[in-house]
Amino acid sequence: MSDFDYDLFVIGAGSGGVRASRIAASHGARVAVAEEYRVGGTCVIRGCVPKKLLVYGSHFAEDLSDARRFGWDTKGATFDWPTLRDNVAAEVDRLEGLYGQTFANNKVEVFHERATLSGPQSIKLASGKEITARTILVATGAWPSVPPIPGADLGITSNEVFHLPALPKRAVIAGAGYIANEFAGIFNELGVEVTLVTRGDKMLRSYDQEIVEKLVGISREKGIDIRMNFPFKGAQKQADGSILIDGGDAGMIETDLLMWAIGRVPNTANLGLEEVGVSLDATGAVVVGADNRTNIESIYAVGDVTNRVQLTPVAIREGHAFADSVFGNNPQTIDYGCIPTAVFSNPPIAGVGLTEEEARAKLADVKIYRSDFRAMKNVLAGRNERALYKMIVDGATDKVVGLHLIGPDSGEILQAAAIAVKAGLTKQAFDDTVALHPSMAEELVLMK
Ligand code: NDP
Repeated sequence: MSDFDYDLFVIGAGSGGVRASRIAASHGARVAVAEEYRVGGTCVIRGCVPKKLLVYGSHFAEDLSDARRFGWDTKGATFDWPTLRDNVAAEVDRLEGLYGQTFANNKVEVFHERATLSGPQSIKLASGKEITARTILVATGAWPSVPPIPGADLGITSNEVFHLPALPKRAVIAGAGYIANEFAGIFNELGVEVTLVTRGDKMLRSYDQEIVEKLVGISREKGIDIRMNFPFKGAQKQADGSILIDGGDAGMIETDLLMWAIGRVPNTANLGLEEVGVSLDATGAVVVGADNRTNIESIYAVGDVTNRVQLTPVAIREGHAFADSVFGNNPQTIDYGCIPTAVFSNPPIAGVGLTEEEARAKLADVKIYRSDFRAMKNVLAGRNERALYKMIVDGATDKVVGLHLIGPDSGEILQAAAIAVKAGLTKQAFDDTVALHPSMAEELVLMK
């Protein structure tokens, strides 16, 4: 008989925690999970999944407008926010149910309450119950940041945006990253007057800046008011219910909705981590090694709470590697190189590998290939919007070290092309591949 109630206790049923639980259980471990909110975590409940569905939902505005040039009479088409919102919520409910089913199928016990650490191998549940486990996995994710300025609480975050009772007439989105650009696109398509406000003079710093500049130009064309170098000093509610945002010398902006999208901080507060002696970094993230283990032998962490790469597929891999290593007698570490990513802005951007800026800093001989083109569908639609594909090549080896796209479906196209970049294929290998015509992706093998 084991001295512990469970072999593994996981705190947090998000992407990393769910995968770790399932795989550990498949290796024969007795597993329990605590989740204080909803099973599925940020990605499924209030992130990637409902966001992508809103991206699809909002894009019909453009599609319906383009459809006229393709012979469709779309007069009378109207949009109803509650219908989209509620259908998205129902899909989230369905997925949450499937996650619950996964736990049941794998005999993972779920405690629907908050859990905190009470020792290196013990947990205390909100109900007061004490549980012991040989190994504990912290997979509590991250939480949207809100700046410490007066009136910041007048704003919402991505946690609340999926539940708006009605769409605002005007929205200010504060931030320059993924969420800000994605929701700027969604709201703009749905007819909201969007102002995207950034504190600095750059957006999406980790992306190739030429691609980002293209996004900024197209966003402005679509009517998104982008205001850079705006210091957020405070916000206050006005008599008519609107919000006045103070940007100091940069001026004031009046809006009906303020949304903060300024990054996410690891969820480590009041979890008992410091008391048990788990090391946290300056951002509050749990410090782990390549094996996902903290400085306390029995405690591990995966996903956003470790603030390594805040992406769902990475958290899933970390959770899987942890479970295989600790319970499957199969030590695994993650290769963090060449992770493809996308911003589901309108149009989306996607990238893998080195940006031009990174390649020039790192390599002696950099060759850049570009294709700046108008998608065939946009031509007939009478839409001037152009796409840009950019290939970064190491001149010394001919290897493609980076690929960066902006244009329709760029995320779909990049996922496939990322395999070639990850595999270290050369520009010649792209050139040797016959084009699939007519497609946008064929530009990848036609770059001169
Ligand atoms: P990001 O990390 O993408 O960007 C945060 C932005 O907020 C930065 O541009 C930063 O600007 C700005 N910022 C930070 N602090 C402040 C402040 N005090 N005042 C004003 N601006 C500030 O954050 P998100 O919240 O958009 O997303 C969080 C993470 O979630 C992402 O990093 C990503 O990993 C993940 N995510 C991934 C998605 C995807 O894969 N499609 C979609 C959504 C989220 P500056 O450049 O000046 O520092």
